[in-house]
Amino acid sequence: MPPTAQAATSGPSYIPSIPQSTLPLPTELITRVLSYSSQGTLASICRVSKALYRIASPVLWKHLVLSPWKVGQDEEGVLDEKKAECGSMKTRQKNGKALRNDVITLSVYHHSTTWCRSNTKSTLKLPEVHTLHLYLSEYGLLHDGHDRNGCRLLRNIAPKVVIFHNARARHLGEESLGSPYGLFDQTEELTCISLVSRALEPSFNDLVVLQKFFNLNKMVWIFQPEDFDPSRHYGWTEPILAGYDYRNEIVRLANALPKAKLTIVNSGLIHFYDKDCEKMTVEESQRQNEIIVKKEVEELLVANFRQWSPERREERIESIEFMDLNEFMEKEEWWKYLNTDEVQEWKVMMDEVEKRFSVEAETDPADGKEVMDD
Ligand SMILES: [Zn+2]
Repeated sequence: MPPTAQAATSGPSYIPSIPQSTLPLPTELITRVLSYSSQGTLASICRVSKALYRIASPVLWKHLVLSPWKVGQDEEGVLDEKKAECGSMKTRQKNGKALRNDVITLSVYHHSTTWCRSNTKSTLKLPEVHTLHLYLSEYGLLHDGHDRNGCRLLRNIAPKVVIFHNARARHLGEESLGSPYGLFDQTEELTCISLVSRALEPSFNDLVVLQKFFNLNKMVWIFQPEDFDPSRHYGWTEPILAGYDYRNEIVRLANALPKAKLTIVNSGLIHFYDKDCEKMTVEESQRQNEIIVKKEVEELLVANFRQWSPERREERIESIEFMDLNEFMEKEEWWKYLNTDEVQEWKVMMDEVEKRFSVEAETDPADGKEVMDD
């Protein structure tokens, strides 16, 4: 199956009747209007006239999505609205060299190694790519299958900003997610988005993937709220892992990136998914996480960075921030790289989870964990 791209051939068939030679509005204004159009509409507009093609094409190619699935399907063959506007990569091959410089944001979904190798003619050279989204598989990988050279689609990409979707701490300990050598050399900002329940999984290994980010100065870890299923066990069932504390992973993260600013979003939600945790509010849980993590990080700094002055240690500790999704949305320029609809969905989900547990805490006075400690 050939790779598919977001340069769509689908979408509304309405084509505005604009004269071939003259445009009714200034170029800047048309570009602005086009920025709100869907990929399908943009593709249609590109075919209206040369003048409109010149304006609409850069907008169309600004965000290129590469996915192994057919138009409008996800990996199980089910229609997925988010991918409904994918077109064929052949479209962009025909348009050739001129398009390469238009791609600013690139999204690549996880795929089998045979998929990216099947497209032998396509060597992606996208020198202007600034932001790279990698949608990792259920197993936290980009490549479903081993390829020691890494994904061929990403060999000439040098993004400044990288976002791992469906990230899992334990897979940051793998030798490679399927990324080619040197992909992260220029990366300054990394955002990992993982489901809250994934936070309960320990990694044990060194965070090898993070060692490939030589120039990283900022990392954000967002725990994405998810539906709570009371019948599911979210923690680890193996007795050897009983009592494992997810906060160790955050400490390890801070330890692996001593020079990067670290922002942990939504850690206060994690304890809801662990049946063995005592009941407390999101704020209280987040505050506790912050105290525990910072204390441990400080101890590690004293042990591992003896040459650091107390001021430098303090500065490091302060560069580790804990916040919930609302604070994150207020403080950070997240809209530059995250989908606004998706973040709004998280917000709704977060409110639901929080509401659900606050109600349970009120109606379930039998839970006497704190009392039993006496
Ligand atoms: Zn690949």
